[in-house]
Amino acid sequence: MKIDFTKNNDGLVPVIIQNYLNNQVLMLGYMNQEAFDKTQEIGKVTFFSRSKNRLWTKGEESGNFLEVKNIAIDCDQDTILIKAKPYGPTCHTGSVTCFKEESNRGFVYELEQTINDRIDLDNDPDSYTNKLYKKGINKVAQKVGEEAIEVVIEAKDNNDDLFLDESADLLYHYLILLKAKGFKLEDVENILKNRENGPRRED
Ligand code: AMP
Ligand code: ZN
Ligand code: ZN
Ligand code: ZN
Repeated sequence: MKIDFTKNNDGLVPVIIQNYLNNQVLMLGYMNQEAFDKTQEIGKVTFFSRSKNRLWTKGEESGNFLEVKNIAIDCDQDTILIKAKPYGPTCHTGSVTCFKEESNRGFVYELEQTINDRIDLDNDPDSYTNKLYKKGINKVAQKVGEEAIEVVIEAKDNNDDLFLDESADLLYHYLILLKAKGFKLEDVENILKNRENGPRRED
């Protein structure tokens, strides 16, 4: 694999890291020849850190390594793309990726991400989301049931403010239930999409 390390006079080449499972961009770093060689040698992404001014194996302190699955170069050999298996969050802030999740699918998906991060990172002892999640699926499901009933009651009561409030409660708790069951909003969305041309049902 021939990479042009001479193009930038610091001998560094940008390296894009993607999650090998879903192609999510995790971070960007730089490698010189030495870092590139070491990456291949140990199978863990190793950058040349400009702030540390030395080779830096991502995860060397945190244990959040990036295990190399595939290495590719771009058309003119001056940029590297690595697909990797991340161990734990890639960003030092504790986020899965250094790039905030794209929200082109809307706020509810952002909320889903926030809820999942809260639960997965488990680093906020005051988080209501975490506390409820830890009580288990039955408790979460019960909460969804209660909120659903409240929505029904407010729908009948003709109070729009309360109806919207309870609707928000329902949606929020439902996202926690999805997480507790190991599913994503996308899974439900896909079922709805597949139904579009399928049979219509009353129930
Ligand atoms: P780590 O390599 O994960 O053990 O982290 C060691 C140090 O590298 C951290 O304290 C941060 O200063 C820095 N660091 C870790 N991950 C990143 C990242 N994704 N982007 C930039 N700096 C990072
Ligand atoms: Zn290029
Ligand atoms: Zn980061
Ligand atoms: Zn409520």
